Amino acid sequence: MSTFQAPTGTRDVVAPESARFAAVVGRFAERARLAGFGLVVSPMFEDVAVFRRTAGEESDVVKDEMYEFDDKGGRRLALRPEGTASVVRAFVQHRPPVPWKAWYVTPAFRYERPQAGRYRQHHQVGVELLGTPDPAADVECIGLLAGFLHACGIHRFELKVNSMGDANCMPGYKATLVDYLSAHEGELCEEHRARWRRNPLRVLDCKKPACATVRERAPRLSGALCDPCRHHFDAVLSGLDALGLAWRQDDTLVRGFDYYTRTTFELGSLALDAAQNALGGGGRYDGLAEQLGGPATPGVGFGCGIERVLLAAAAEGALSEVTGRVDAFVIDLSGGAGALELTSRLRAAGISADRAFDGRSLKAQLKAADRSGARLACIVGPDELAAGTVTVRVLTGQQAGQQETIDREALVGRGKELLAVAGRPAGGTP
Ligand code: AMP
Repeated sequence: MSTFQAPTGTRDVVAPESARFAAVVGRFAERARLAGFGLVVSPMFEDVAVFRRTAGEESDVVKDEMYEFDDKGGRRLALRPEGTASVVRAFVQHRPPVPWKAWYVTPAFRYERPQAGRYRQHHQVGVELLGTPDPAADVECIGLLAGFLHACGIHRFELKVNSMGDANCMPGYKATLVDYLSAHEGELCEEHRARWRRNPLRVLDCKKPACATVRERAPRLSGALCDPCRHHFDAVLSGLDALGLAWRQDDTLVRGFDYYTRTTFELGSLALDAAQNALGGGGRYDGLAEQLGGPATPGVGFGCGIERVLLAAAAEGALSEVTGRVDAFVIDLSGGAGALELTSRLRAAGISADRAFDGRSLKAQLKAADRSGARLACIVGPDELAAGTVTVRVLTGQQAGQQETIDREALVGRGKELLAVAGRPAGGTP
């Protein structure tokens, strides 16, 4: 065992899994670009108040899980536990024209009990759409998340939606809930028996069986919505219908952060165990920009866990075509000049190509070519170098062993033909 290991709850993502990780980010970037979202890159750490004020003191993330520290200048900082607060902080700071559509990819840090699919550093892709209260914006975000999952080959998921109401109807609902919980305090889980008054909504979110039982008979959030919130929610649901997205309303979907108003949603994998099936979720947060000192600005967005997407993809047999293997491997017995020229030529044409170093023997280079998983070996020895030719050998698939010597100028064209036969177009799948 090496002296140092990645810290508990973290892990190194290396090839070939990192090829799928990159593909997931690439597919998200493409979906976001197609929908008019621009990338925002923000710091990994913020003034701790950014997260305390937005997620809420009583949220698990702030209460128990945040990585906080003092820097050398005595500032109290925290590593990002999620993406939204930083992006909204950036919005308030820069005041871009609205609607502002931003997407991000970020690590997120939470001191959780590590288990399968649950890490202390995980990674999220997400979007935020600020400056419009239009329910169509909620639908656009949900549609983007679902479309992205489909683009990753993930089809077995369930969309849960709910409305948290707003400053008009939520206080009334909370009061009814408080009355109900007061009468059932003794039945709650140990933690919530002691703390439920600080934020009664957390009980709706609690995973413990005791709270789940109390919750079953609790007053329903959906029954307490005011007319504008009801209309907003109905418009979101019709939009989802129009998109052909199946949804299920879940009254207990309050999510882990205090900033949500109106719509909340979560996409859960049907191919994964309950403890790790949340793929992504989000909602509307019409008060968040104001909470961070900005002008009142409605907003909606979501975060989606990359590790969970990879788990769901594996469970559905998706992304298996993304291997990170190169298309071609150049074997050079001419002293190096051939490899330099051919790898450049192939790469310029979009055919991924690797090569051996150190002037190794033919046997060693063939072994390296095999290990690389390349489908083609392009061999150039002194004869080929002098004649301006290259020998192309198929390494994998039905034609494995087939070999031909061709003009070097024809390499790119012939290489693409041979790769297409294998059902693996040049360049692999991004
Ligand atoms: P949240 O910000 O809690 O809504 O999380 C957004 C998404 O990030 C979830 O739906 C999960 O896919 C993922 N996620 C959250 N926490 C973790 C974690 N500790 N490890 C891995 N993925 C996580």
